[in-house]
Amino acid sequence: MTFAEEIVCPRCDNRFRLDQLVNLCSCGSPLLVRYDLRKAAATVTKPSLQGRSATLWRYRELLPVQDDVNVVSLGEGFTPLLEAKTVAHELSFRRVWIKDEAQNPTGSFKDRGLCLAVSRAKELGVKKIAIPSAGNAGGSLSAYAARAGIEANVFMPKDTPAANQIEAGQYGARLTLVDGLISDCGKIIAERKAAEGWFDVSTLKEPYRVEGKKTMGYEIAEQLNWKLPDVIIYPTGGGTGLIGMWKAFAEMEEMGWIGRDRPRMVSVQASGCAPIVRAFVEGKDTAEPWQNAKTVASGLRVPQAVADFLMLRALRESNGTALSVSDDEMLAEIPRIGRAEGIFFCPEGAACVAALRRLANQRWIKPTDEVVIFNTATGLKYLDVLQGRA
Ligand SMILES: *Cc1c(COP(=O)(O)O)cnc(C)c1O
Repeated sequence: MTFAEEIVCPRCDNRFRLDQLVNLCSCGSPLLVRYDLRKAAATVTKPSLQGRSATLWRYRELLPVQDDVNVVSLGEGFTPLLEAKTVAHELSFRRVWIKDEAQNPTGSFKDRGLCLAVSRAKELGVKKIAIPSAGNAGGSLSAYAARAGIEANVFMPKDTPAANQIEAGQYGARLTLVDGLISDCGKIIAERKAAEGWFDVSTLKEPYRVEGKKTMGYEIAEQLNWKLPDVIIYPTGGGTGLIGMWKAFAEMEEMGWIGRDRPRMVSVQASGCAPIVRAFVEGKDTAEPWQNAKTVASGLRVPQAVADFLMLRALRESNGTALSVSDDEMLAEIPRIGRAEGIFFCPEGAACVAALRRLANQRWIKPTDEVVIFNTATGLKYLDVLQGRA
């Protein structure tokens, strides 16, 4: 059972019914699901969550699937929030937490979004899905589509990490390797989708992946006993997590689960592809496409994001910031955090560690601040990138 009511455009306030299969608004903006939060608050209480399944489905009423028979799940979400004591001590912070998204079914947090997108696609009778992917999203869609009995068409840059290419095939997806970037993959899908009958689940070009990603915000609140951290550092590509968590905080406040305080949201990108950082620094509301995007952090190799204005809005509303780190900085952090905390980080997660170190040195984060960083995927998916390094 869900309290989802309708789909709304955050730019022009256009509205859509939940039984319509939608992508972007006619104005070009991403669409978001709106809930009847007053009713939700009367039924779902914080104590009522106790004893529910340790998956993102513990927030069932705040997710958009109408009928339980359409839930396609592999046990995703409710990942551990691990205290990073060694790192906190080294950087003289009171507390640093790692949200370990590597512990999702296909090894990355893309599972949260694609679980919801595939469940809703199933509910609305979709038979074929297409996705452009910088890496992990392709593997994740392939897994959930296989489980739902839906055809998956995955388009990836040809230099995507081997694990992502191999897993898509093993899940039975139709994989096309493209000589270009994720944006080129997206263009191919846009051209072919009408003729092929594909539902396009590109990042934020349908309203459901962000609903899955918002559960990270619910989980962090619940795992910290409903007191949000002071700072959240998020490795940003298309921005679903950033936008999703920001939405979750607003929903929770409206239900009376949390107060008005918000974490300062920090967006970290790779110095070889940092369109959001550049726009933030220049004080812009939207981001220009990044030319010649290049980084080993494949999840951050997103030269242009359709939800740029929503990310920039959340960063500014939260008094947050945006910064980029080099591939060398990321790669140097992987063995450091591995030794310090026993967690094998992906390059995108390691970008959060590099950002934490930089913001600590700059005193932008204070020693008394509680900080949450993300390990968004397992380092095991990047063996070809890491081979030969210490
Ligand atoms: C996709 C991805 C990201 C970026 O997530 P967005 O929500 O698209 O900003 C970060 N890290 C990894 C490992 C990813 O796969």
